[in-house]
Order: sequence, then C-alpha cells, then structure tokens
Amino acid sequence: MSYTPVDRNRSAAMMVTTSPEFVEITPGHFLVPSSSADGAFYVTTSTTCTCPDHSRRQNLCKHSRAVQIRALMTTFEREDAF
Ligand SMILES: [Zn+2]
Repeated sequence: MSYTPVDRNRSAAMMVTTSPEFVEITPGHFLVPSSSADGAFYVTTSTTCTCPDHSRRQNLCKHSRAVQIRALMTTFEREDAF
C-alpha cells in the first residue's frame, strides 16, 4: 500500500499534461487513454469512469481526477480571457 492521495493527484496531473488524446466527446464527458492497456480508452466524467479501478472501488480514479484538474485549468484559461 504505497499509493498515497498525493501520488494519485500527481499522476492525474501528469496525465493531463502528457496526454494529447484527452478528448472531450460531449460536454463533461472525456475520452481518456488508459495508462496500462495499449489503445484502451475510458469514458470519464469528474465523478465517474468506465475503468476497472472506479468500477471496483467506487471512488475517484486518476482519470476522474485528471478531468477535474483539466476543468480547473480550463476555468483559469477562461478567466484569463476576460
Ligand atoms: Zn478511471
């Protein structure tokens, strides 16, 4: 059990900055590439995800965290535009 919340947040932040294929398919729903299975994508919102991690544990997985971080970044970008 070496998986701390800080580690999870850091890996989520890494995904946001390193995943060019992080695509918003409909408002609030993102296609997020799996970090373990080649070519696999999950449909992720800020609270739900289709990945095994979320299905099994019913808590926020790194994909949802990545969506939340991305939403915050987008908010900041929008505020900068005003
Ligand atoms: Zn997930």
